[in-house]
Amino acid sequence: MSAASAPLHLGTLQLTYQVLALLLTAFSVGGALLAKGRYGLWFWVGSFATLALFQISGAAVLPAWDKNAGYLIGHLGGMLSSLCVLLGIRAYLGLTLRWKQGLAFVLGAGAVCAALMAAGLSPRMSLALSLLVSAVLRWQAFTHLLAAFRRHGGTPMGFATAIILLSVVSHLVRTGALLSPLGAGYENGFQSNAFGMLGLIVVLVMHGFVILLLVTHALQREVLSLAEHDSLTGLLNRRGMDARFERLRRRAAMQGGQSMSLALIDVDHFKAVNDRLGHGAGDDVLKGLGALLDTLIRPTDLAVRLGGEEFVLLWNGIQPGVEGAMAEKIRQAVARHPFETREGPVAVTVSIGVTGMPAHDGDLESVLKRADRALYRAKQDGRDRVAVDPG
Ligand code: GH3
Ligand code: MG
Ligand code: MG
Repeated sequence: MSAASAPLHLGTLQLTYQVLALLLTAFSVGGALLAKGRYGLWFWVGSFATLALFQISGAAVLPAWDKNAGYLIGHLGGMLSSLCVLLGIRAYLGLTLRWKQGLAFVLGAGAVCAALMAAGLSPRMSLALSLLVSAVLRWQAFTHLLAAFRRHGGTPMGFATAIILLSVVSHLVRTGALLSPLGAGYENGFQSNAFGMLGLIVVLVMHGFVILLLVTHALQREVLSLAEHDSLTGLLNRRGMDARFERLRRRAAMQGGQSMSLALIDVDHFKAVNDRLGHGAGDDVLKGLGALLDTLIRPTDLAVRLGGEEFVLLWNGIQPGVEGAMAEKIRQAVARHPFETREGPVAVTVSIGVTGMPAHDGDLESVLKRADRALYRAKQDGRDRVAVDPG
């Protein structure tokens, strides 16, 4: 390539990069908007950081190609964007965000890169170092994604594999593009950046795929969540309870000596509340009761609206024999709690039928039947009380 034609190539390349960058950003913003959640924003920040920092770095601006500062910014950009993608995926999967540690990790690695470069390490080596850091972060991101897709059956695994392959290809292409001009001089700039553009296209496709996957997965989760929750109280419904029961039972079985207990809770004379104050106020009571029950259990227990004014609490990993006392606490808490309704505060009482369940006894139907028998007794004995079925 002659010196005279270089500015033309430079302009064309820069323009192409800008267009691709814009497309990629639009893709990511679109994905973020579609998916709504926090992770969408992280994803967008991640993609944007990649492109912005890589562009500033001089990967696109050829004259700055062999300036150390350009490399350093480029490395940081790459590592930061990998971190953003990881954070995005973690946030999306509902995992705890450790962004401070992540940032410290990236900045630390950046400082090491800078120090090594200052000490005379070749830019090629420091680039390899930053690629390694990015690879670690992206690998973590992908393992999270894979784990999530495994939980959702086999087909998305194919997608995840495609994403990983695309990622590997894009990484190889980009690594090749970034490494090849080093030491080769400005003359090879065009060829190497054609590689770079190819890399960017692969990355673009990869991002599109990942976003599509995330959106599909998010929608799938939303639909599943709607199907397993009661719309009035937000508690699990019968279907949601069935889906979780087996998992809880297996865990209780593994924890030896401990057992599960099921409490069937029914509001006393609820029909009278409806008749007196209207169905709307009745709904408010159910809503308030659902919220109260939810605060009275541990995060690992289940609160379920079985239907109408009947609720279930499923305690797991508790000592056998304490379920009667636990149910009594619930009964008292409800009796003490006036529920806010559109017709003013309303007090209700509940009757509770409760039964223990050894970990090896996994039949939900029979456990519910026992609790129902006890509940019937509590009603017969005058309501506002707990009856225990010994099992
Ligand atoms: P008991 O003490 O024997 O349980 O008396 P009860 O009146 O609570 O029992 P019953 O089964 O006769 O009545 C239950 C009532 O719950 C009747 C039904 O209208 C009402 N109900 C069921 N689902 C809902 C709901 O979603 N909203 C409202 N407001 N009421 C509901
Ligand atoms: Mg009832
Ligand atoms: Mg009732």
